[in-house]
Amino acid sequence: MRIVVSGAAGFIGSHLCDRLVAEGHTVVGLDSFITGRRENIAQLADHPRFQLLQQDVSQPFELPGPVDYVLHLASPASPKDYLEHPIATLDTGSLGTRRMLELALRDRARFLLTSTSECYGDPLEHPQKETYWGNVNPVGPRSCYDESKRFAEALTMAYHRVHGLETNIARIFNTYGPRMQLDDGRVVPAFIDQALRGDPLTVYGNGSQTRSFCYVSDLVEGLCRLMDSGERYPVNLGNPREMTIREFAEQIRRMTGSRSPVIFRELPEDDPRQRRPDISKARRLLGWEPKVGLEEGLRMTIEYFRNAPRPAYTGSPS
Ligand code: UDP
Repeated sequence: MRIVVSGAAGFIGSHLCDRLVAEGHTVVGLDSFITGRRENIAQLADHPRFQLLQQDVSQPFELPGPVDYVLHLASPASPKDYLEHPIATLDTGSLGTRRMLELALRDRARFLLTSTSECYGDPLEHPQKETYWGNVNPVGPRSCYDESKRFAEALTMAYHRVHGLETNIARIFNTYGPRMQLDDGRVVPAFIDQALRGDPLTVYGNGSQTRSFCYVSDLVEGLCRLMDSGERYPVNLGNPREMTIREFAEQIRRMTGSRSPVIFRELPEDDPRQRRPDISKARRLLGWEPKVGLEEGLRMTIEYFRNAPRPAYTGSPS
């Protein structure tokens, strides 16, 4: 197949492109490079079946040649990034999704939207099932991300209903692994970087909020299975192993052998108190569940960050 991937130079996008090219597909990657990085996709730069175009998908563009599948991953995804780029985030989720859907419609290609657990906002139902409608503050600082993804889901369903487009929607929960940006502000790279530097680990609030972390290869496997399915409604993809952020800090200290202290900082506004996917739908429909345990996934991620360029890094921790 000839597959168009928006957000191809992002963390998840680049892993997905690796997988699709390895499976024999031809991939056209699009990225605005607002948060994506060329280094993420350098391994595919000279591949005959891979092409990377700098393109902000919220702007008009032409993409010649037939397209079989459109995978729309483009969006800032770290709270730090979308808080810095709220309008670009809203544009990518709205205008960008519209343009990617139109591209799919042009060739009657199949379409997959990567949505987010943020659709559930600060959830009042726990764990979160796809049938939960969410608890989102529409005017809070995170709304640029949450609402643009909710709008993107609504738009995707409208294209399916009006045009009969074959669509899929993945609701992705916290995902981690190599190629996350050290300074993107998310808790996984933040704690690993702090631990490796010997700096204090900055826990926001009292650290009792929970998250559930999924390793990137598991997530990519889930996306590929969803692509092959006929499920039109959203499917949660994430790892149901839940922990508090305080516990997560301890885990990182242990695994890096760091003596960094844990310090507490103000909890960001509207930070969800708890998050854990109910993945029974993905299990039932896709036969999918995560395979990589937290320790194994973190070991690979810590190894990656140890070797990542870190100008001020002063040496190995004990
Ligand atoms: N967090 C933290 N310290 C950090 C970065 C994040 O305690 O240096 C917390 C954050 O407040 C949230 C959780 O870790 O409760 C996960 O944050 P992240 O930005 O990774 O993703 P989110 O799940 O909020 O989108």
